[in-house]
Parts: sequence; structure tokens; C-alpha cells
Amino acid sequence: MAKIKEIQTIRTRENGTWLFVKVITDQPGLYGIGSASDHYRAKTVQTAIETIAPLIIGREVSHIEDIWQSIYTSGYWRNDSVINTVQAGIDMALWDIKGKEAGMPVYQLLGGPCRSAVMCYAHASGDTLQELEDDIRRYMEEGYHVIRCQLGPYGGGGFLEADKAGFPKNHWPQTRAFDDEAYLENVPKMFAYLRDKLGFGPKLTHDVHEHLHPHNAVHLAKLLEPYRLFFLEDLLSPEQVNWYRLVRQQCVTPQAMGELFINPHEFLPLITERLIDYVRVRVSKGGGITNCRKIATLCEWFGVRTAWQEGGDNDPVNQMAAVHLDMASYSFGIQEENHFRAEEYDLFPGYAKLEGGYLYANDQPGLGIDIDEQKAHELFKPELATKSFFISEDRRSDGEIVRP
Ligand SMILES: [Mg+2]
Repeated sequence: MAKIKEIQTIRTRENGTWLFVKVITDQPGLYGIGSASDHYRAKTVQTAIETIAPLIIGREVSHIEDIWQSIYTSGYWRNDSVINTVQAGIDMALWDIKGKEAGMPVYQLLGGPCRSAVMCYAHASGDTLQELEDDIRRYMEEGYHVIRCQLGPYGGGGFLEADKAGFPKNHWPQTRAFDDEAYLENVPKMFAYLRDKLGFGPKLTHDVHEHLHPHNAVHLAKLLEPYRLFFLEDLLSPEQVNWYRLVRQQCVTPQAMGELFINPHEFLPLITERLIDYVRVRVSKGGGITNCRKIATLCEWFGVRTAWQEGGDNDPVNQMAAVHLDMASYSFGIQEENHFRAEEYDLFPGYAKLEGGYLYANDQPGLGIDIDEQKAHELFKPELATKSFFISEDRRSDGEIVRP
């Protein structure tokens, strides 16, 4: 049986925010790859992988569950976003190797396909209602059935410009302010407009990006009920998920939550009490295929569905891992789409093809995706990768930070 010989890491994208694990075995030519990307903590994750490597070098590559459990408790404290990402990268690589050894795609090893392709939802946005409508129609023409609708960027619809923000006289440098009431006014109006123009044919979602105070979040879910959303995403911040009980008591707007979750205690009550409808953990933040497979199975018995998170900072290997889970999970609900620049796709032979609103796996053994290390190296710009990245800060009129 093959053993782990070496763990390598590959950083790429110009700014180095994509990080991949390559698990090399003692068998000639046999290796696996996994995603360990973290836009904000790439170097930290890379160091953590180097720290964990001695624990598993020399182990049987086939012992995926045992290696997962071993890394999980290896630092005594667990369930943090960095170590989850380390686990995920190694876990995906081990599944990739297992598939290559078996001569089967990973989705076959997970029980085989229970769908022929993976339905995705698109991200439509616009600074005006007309722009948003045009963007939605463009995606509908491409073939998407489910489309996320946003007024501009994070918190769009809820911003007051400087002349209307009512800043205090000593206000900090700030050009606009997020305001719950503005959001409650504008987002229902957006859906009223869209349903008037598009009817109830397209399935629409909206992402609140956790910006509202909890009581206003409950109010928004209730106000949006007449517009029959496919789901309302990230209505509450992870600190306030107990408010989902009140949301359930007030309305039937379907709820999607989970891209910030890293600890099972965050999502277990939401699933087992049926307080959300879609769980949206990012596969590389949820501990990889091994752990997310368990989440998907749990969801099945409680009628909750999966909508594994993607988004602009994610990478094609994580997306492919999600596709394998989607193909083999009965609890699959929808997959968030992600697409990349041509020169980025070029690094990943076998990447999942996105066409007409569906992602397609391939029938190659393992994950079916590889990394061209030479091209990855050429794309990487060391001088840009020294920069630190932080999520943008939205603030209220008095300067208080809005938690994403
Ligand atoms: Mg979100």
C-alpha cells in the first residue's frame, strides 16, 4: 500500500492567495492535490501545513478517516479556520489519491452519481434596478434557473451617502454609512420590481451578508415572504444564529447560512432543529470531503440541503471537491457558481466545466483535476504576495463596524 512521502505546498494567483497541497506518495507518479486557499491567511495556512506534515509523513494514504481524526486533535485545540483548511487540503489530496488507485472518480467512491450534473446559481448585480434586471436576464439566457440578486456590493441597498448619513460632527474618515432602515426599505422594493418585471419563473436569492441587527433581520425575512425567494442567504451573523428560531415563527422565507461556519456546534442545532433550509459551509473551511460528506448525510435526514459556498476568492480545486460531493449527495440543493480567468483555468487540466448554469465533473480517476506547477509558478508574483489582505469594513453613521 502507498505511503505519504512528502507534503508540498503551491501558492499561486498573482497575489499568492491561492494555496494548494500536494501529497506525494512513495509510489512512482502517484500524488494527490487539494485546496487550502484562504484569501486572508495564505501564509499562515502554508506554515500550518508545514507544521502538520511530520505527523502524517510515512502513514498509509488509504487511511483517510484516521488521518483526518489525527490532525483534528493534533494541536489539542480544534475547530479553527486555519487548521480546518489544512485538514481540507490534505483530505482532498488523499481522496484524489484513493480515486487514482481505484481508477474511479471520487464521486463514484462516495456512492456514485445521483444526478447527471450540478445545478449552480449565478450572481447578478447592478447599481440600479434596471442594471440588475438586465444582468438577471443575461444569466437567464445563459441557462441559469437560480440567480442571486444584489444591489451593488456587500450591503448594497443599505448605504446612505455622506450628505444623508447624519454623521456626528467629529466623525471618522468615512464616505457613507450602512443603515438598517434603508436596507429594509430598498431590498423589498428591489424584489417587488423584479417580480413585476420577471414574474415568478426565475428562482431568486438574496445575500444579506449578515449586515442587519437581528430584529431587523427577522423583519426583512417577513417582508420578503411575498416574493417567494429560493433562499435568503446570511440573514444573521454567526454570533446571532439563535434568532433563526424567531425567523421560523414569523415566515416561510427559506434560509441559507453557513459560509462562516467552522465548528460543528455552529451548524448542528440549525440542521437538527430544521431552522435553516440550506447549509453553506465552504468545503475547504469545513475540513474537506470527509467532513462535508458527513454534513451532507446529516442534512439528508433532516430535510436540509447543501449549497456549498464558492465566491470570488475560491479556487478550481475546491470547486471540484464540491462538485464530487454534489454529484453523490441526495441532500444536494444548489451549488454556488464560481468562474475564473482563462489564464487561471489554464493552470488546472481537467477543471469542472461551467456551462448553461451547470457544472460538469469528468470521468477521470480521483478528483479529475491537476495543477500545472510551471504555469502556477509563472502566474505567481512574489512582490504582490507580500501584501496582507483584509475584508472591507462597512460602518454605521457613528463609525461602528458592521460585522460581515
Ligand atoms: Mg454569503
